[in-house]
Amino acid sequence: MGVERGRMTGETEQDLRRALVIAAHPDDSDIGVGGTVTLWSRNGWEFYYLVCTDGSKGTEDPEMTSDRLVPMRREEQRAAAALLGVRDVFFLDYVDGELAYTPQLIRDVVRYIRRLRPYAVFTHDPSQIVRNMFVNHPDHRCAGTVALDAVYPFARNRPSFPELLDEGLEPFSVREIYLWNSSEGNFEVDITSVADLKFEALLLHKSQFIEMEERMKRWRERWAEPDGRFLERFRHIEFPF
Ligand SMILES: [Zn+2]
Repeated sequence: MGVERGRMTGETEQDLRRALVIAAHPDDSDIGVGGTVTLWSRNGWEFYYLVCTDGSKGTEDPEMTSDRLVPMRREEQRAAAALLGVRDVFFLDYVDGELAYTPQLIRDVVRYIRRLRPYAVFTHDPSQIVRNMFVNHPDHRCAGTVALDAVYPFARNRPSFPELLDEGLEPFSVREIYLWNSSEGNFEVDITSVADLKFEALLLHKSQFIEMEERMKRWRERWAEPDGRFLERFRHIEFPF
């Protein structure tokens, strides 16, 4: 398997690249692509997050209510994204755990693709089984499938969602897709130099991670390569047109 190294752009204006990260839950983007976000942002990319659900099921605390959790997770996501260099975060607020493949969800994602006009989209690999190791969360599968379908064909197809044309949003063709947590990775980014910052960002999701020190130690052990480096791996697709 050929594995490309993470590429860097130059620093001129025309090299500016914009990326939209489409995820199911607050924290998914930081886990999947947080290191790449930081590294590439320092090299002229602009990153935006689009979070499909409200994160309301992300607790095992019997005292926690959705009314308290949703705004908490929203703020945690904003703080983590800001630390990593993300320009802005948008929330679609579908109910956590109930994300479904609907024309409405596809249209909502297409709206942000047409509005932001990203060169690249990062999202979940929508496969049900990941690397023969675990089952992908149904919201992750749905968000990944919808993101891919939004990129092709719907964002670039003029007759799809005429109401978006009424909003002044013209068709747009994304050029590259990066899927995280893929069984078929063909692209890797060495994030070793920013791994600490990524872990710090993850720890800002305080509602999600208890015993922070212990958690940090486990991440370091689990995510480190045998040679001590940290990588983010993607399945990468570049459209030929
Ligand atoms: Zn998730």
